[in-house]
Amino acid sequence: PIWFESTYKRVAGAERELLVTTRDVTERKKLELELTRALGLAQLAVAAKSDFLANMTHELRTPLNAIIGFAGVLKGSTTLSERDARHVGLIQDASNTLLNVVNDVLDFSRLEAGGVELDPQPFDPREMVASCAALIEGQAGAKGLILEVVAPDDVQAMQADAPRLTQVLLNFLSNAVKFTNSGRVTVVVDQRLDGEQGMLRIEVRDTGIGIASHQLDGVFERFSQADAAVSRRFGGTGLGLAISRRIIEQMGGDIGVYSREGEGSRFWFEIRAPLCDLVPEAPREDPA
Ligand code: ADP
Repeated sequence: PIWFESTYKRVAGAERELLVTTRDVTERKKLELELTRALGLAQLAVAAKSDFLANMTHELRTPLNAIIGFAGVLKGSTTLSERDARHVGLIQDASNTLLNVVNDVLDFSRLEAGGVELDPQPFDPREMVASCAALIEGQAGAKGLILEVVAPDDVQAMQADAPRLTQVLLNFLSNAVKFTNSGRVTVVVDQRLDGEQGMLRIEVRDTGIGIASHQLDGVFERFSQADAAVSRRFGGTGLGLAISRRIIEQMGGDIGVYSREGEGSRFWFEIRAPLCDLVPEAPREDPA
């Protein structure tokens, strides 16, 4: 395995900007592992903890799915009074929220334990951004927000784990919509050549409530909610950005945020990955 580690740095002279840099710390980790192996204990504790979390979340998910499923069946019943149908709707909403929390905890504990394998496949970044935007458009529209995508025409396909990048981008986007009351949410896509590889940068800008300078440091930490009172009102697990950070870390990329309280935020990530063709080349005909 390869290990990455992030460090947080204030951008010099820019009090409101936080940069998360990721470094390959495989060598150091290997050394540490050898040490813990020698001690035999610490590693066991980590494995037991993530096993426990995985089992527990699984045990929670099964009955939750039953609740969601049967609430759906009930909702379809024609004999329900209007009031009962509303209550069944509330059961559905609450259990879906709980399922999201459980899934986040499971995902986070897997990522934390290094148990998530990336699956790099050719994908079209523009298509990925467009489908994420389409998913979030309804929520943005309901709040009267303008949602726009700015991307160059000549973005090339790349080889990376698109579902995991989608997860990060959707997280940025849903936060942007959640914490913005008026104005716009803009996704800016940039792609450059970086040596042999391609560099992809995606930034989500919003005109929302922003994050206070002293709270910026914590936003990529687990269970961090910049403003407890505000966040409680909006819901959420406080795990989304911590999960996003782990994903980008595992890809060896960078993730960061620039934010001004009362003016808005810009959440971005950058990854380096091979550029490629989308359609695999057709097998060459035998000249003979
Ligand atoms: P949550 O589930 O609470 O949204 P996240 O990890 O996604 O968890 O975000 C952590 C916290 O960072 C949020 O609760 C919020 O306080 C802050 N935050 C994230 N994105 C934004 C944004 N676009 N604008 C303002 N605050 C944000």
